[in-house]
Amino acid sequence: MTTSNPNWGDPHTINADLHCHSTVSDGTLSPDQLAARAAANGVQMWSLTDHDEVGGLEKASEAARAHGLLFVPGVEVSVTWSGKTLHIVGLRVGFKNSPLSEGLGQVRSGRRERALEMSHQLAKVGIDGVFEGALKYVGNPDLISRTHFARHLVERGVCTDIGDVFQRFLTPGKPGYVPHSWASLSQAVTWIRDSGGVAVIAHPGRYDLNELQMDELIRQFIELGGQGIEVVTGSHTVDQYRTFARRSLKHGLKASRGSDFHGPEESRVNLGELPPLPDGCVPIWDNWENVL
Ligand code: AMP
Ligand code: MN
Ligand code: MN
Ligand code: MN
Repeated sequence: MTTSNPNWGDPHTINADLHCHSTVSDGTLSPDQLAARAAANGVQMWSLTDHDEVGGLEKASEAARAHGLLFVPGVEVSVTWSGKTLHIVGLRVGFKNSPLSEGLGQVRSGRRERALEMSHQLAKVGIDGVFEGALKYVGNPDLISRTHFARHLVERGVCTDIGDVFQRFLTPGKPGYVPHSWASLSQAVTWIRDSGGVAVIAHPGRYDLNELQMDELIRQFIELGGQGIEVVTGSHTVDQYRTFARRSLKHGLKASRGSDFHGPEESRVNLGELPPLPDGCVPIWDNWENVL
């Protein structure tokens, strides 16, 4: 496989990291710090994909340029599909006054109330003041996330680590979990496409879906114009790299690669430190001629 730019050679060998988070959502590093870290770790093509928010992309783009990185404006949209929460990554999105930036305003608007309700529920099981505590970790008042709650509960010593908080308090059926209605799959894919981007199913291995449901999700996603699926992500096991490589080929989806890095203390995978896409996958960036 070749690209239009001979400098890059085989697109499989490009160190692309197309999924991570800054303080503009639930990461612990600023967009500038992420760009510096990506460059130091040998990333060549980098995307910032904050949850439901494009407010960090301008800074990220400038910092990427300063560090000699190819920058891909991105986002990770929270979606409710078939009663479950899914994430759809948008890459190469137009983010200034775009259908996406408008749509995301609606998605963010319920977060504060949800957080207050989570705090209320936790108070009922004897853990007070969690909303105020979580706010100390919030970099963007429009984007209070479960991650900020988790950091606070670890700091307080209620739980030993973030995974423990999610398991005991912040997942369906647990005392601090408040169901929420995010964007529809159709809205997310349409906002991304109408803003010039490509839509990618984020970390499919994390969803509690059986084979039939996964096929149905992919079918609907493609029908809406979705084009990619994450194959190599910090959220997948090595087995899942293979499983989702096969699925990408079966459905004709392009493959994406991203660490889902949230911060040096918390992430399983560092920025840019991922294996290449498995042989046979078509990289999502394969035809991005003006980036490559
Ligand atoms: P929210 O958008 O507020 O529902 O928060 C979702 C975020 O919580 C995800 O993007 C992850 O960063 C984090 N998260 C979800 N589940 C877990 C888990 N089991 N362990 C650690 N972090 C998690
Ligand atoms: Mn997150
Ligand atoms: Mn996600
Ligand atoms: Mn993510």
